[in-house]
Amino acid sequence: MADRVIGLKCLNCGAEYPLSRMFEGCPKCATDKFRSNLTVVYDYDAISKLISKDLFLKRSRLMGVWRFKELLPVENEKYMITLGEGNTPLLKCKNLEKILGLRNLYVKDESRNPTWSYKDRLCSVAISKGLEFGAKVATVATTGNHGGSTAAYAAKAGMDCVIFTLPTVSDIMLTLMHIYGAKVVPITTPEGRWALMKKCVEELGWYPTGTYSSPMPTGNPYGVQGYKTIAFEIAEQLEFEVPDWVVVPTVYGEGLYGIWLGFNEFQNLGITDDLPRMIAAETEMGPIANALRKNLDYIEKVPSKPTVALSIAGTISSYQALKTMRDSNGYAMPVTDDEILQAQKMLAKHEGIFAEPASSASLAAVIRLVEENRIDRDEKIVLVITSTGLKDIRPVTPKKLPAIEPVWKDLEIFLKKHYNFQL
Ligand SMILES: *Cc1c(COP(=O)(O)O)cnc(C)c1O
Ligand SMILES: [Zn+2]
Repeated sequence: MADRVIGLKCLNCGAEYPLSRMFEGCPKCATDKFRSNLTVVYDYDAISKLISKDLFLKRSRLMGVWRFKELLPVENEKYMITLGEGNTPLLKCKNLEKILGLRNLYVKDESRNPTWSYKDRLCSVAISKGLEFGAKVATVATTGNHGGSTAAYAAKAGMDCVIFTLPTVSDIMLTLMHIYGAKVVPITTPEGRWALMKKCVEELGWYPTGTYSSPMPTGNPYGVQGYKTIAFEIAEQLEFEVPDWVVVPTVYGEGLYGIWLGFNEFQNLGITDDLPRMIAAETEMGPIANALRKNLDYIEKVPSKPTVALSIAGTISSYQALKTMRDSNGYAMPVTDDEILQAQKMLAKHEGIFAEPASSASLAAVIRLVEENRIDRDEKIVLVITSTGLKDIRPVTPKKLPAIEPVWKDLEIFLKKHYNFQL
């Protein structure tokens, strides 16, 4: 399979590079405010001879994302690390359809992954590629899901892992990083983290699963490939009919671009006939929406605002996010904390899905776009629910009610008083 994966290529200027440890985007077209992402180049003619719909479908789900290994950038099978990620359910939201007046609303529930977020698809591929490169230490700068996931896959791969966090890291995220054996280093400033990490990558050969470059994040181009498998699975689960819209909670746009790329590859290989339009659900800061509104060809930093959606809280995004919006004729939809928390409740109460606030932004974005008549009520919409609400229960922790005596009368009073529910 050696010739299947050819190299790296700049999404902006098209410059080509060998398969190598390039994590800071394209040096050729970089300016002081612009950095383009690199993407992996494959020989699709060679791949089309190796694959078929049936081949993917009949493989064991225990292969995780490697069920689609012909379309992933790791060459030697012995480096393909899996924790059984992916192969998550696509659930039809009948109750929310009724409430919102929609006819084809689905959730791709990525909270069922090994570390309970869709980052596991990125980390399985990123860490596997790191093993293939001979890396000994994995690293990432994060306070969120990227940390727990990197730590878990590094553990499985037998690599050391050093994570740069901030003093604000939550107990749950810190616990995940720790239990999987990462060495967690809190740093006083966010900008300081990237500079320190860059030094470790350049001077010690540490292997990054996430970004450390500014302006405009670039990240690990191999890891992003893992997100393509979300598109492949959605296509399979809809019997190779492509949805009209795929909604992705977004900050750096690795998920957004990866999923879009996956749909493009299936179409180019003749497995599907169509492409979806992509929706980036953002916080109120909305760096992608800002760039589109101003018709910029780079993403400029927007002012910081507090948000409940910690996993998508960011003042900047990537070139691949901007390009995905333009290429897919998509929308970037910033939503407020109130809308996010409302959507989180709706998903839990009506569909039995407890999503992270960030993940719930996808439903909030759809509600707004339907109201604004930018999505048609008949269209097929897939919400990517990127992680579980258990990652951050602070916004939804109920207050504890006083216990009652185990008697009928008290039960009746209790239910009436607290829930307005009649026995
Ligand atoms: C990382 C993350 C995102 C955003 O992913 P990007 O690729 O940076 O846009 C969304 N939701 C959750 C739960 C995440 O952990
Ligand atoms: Zn370039």
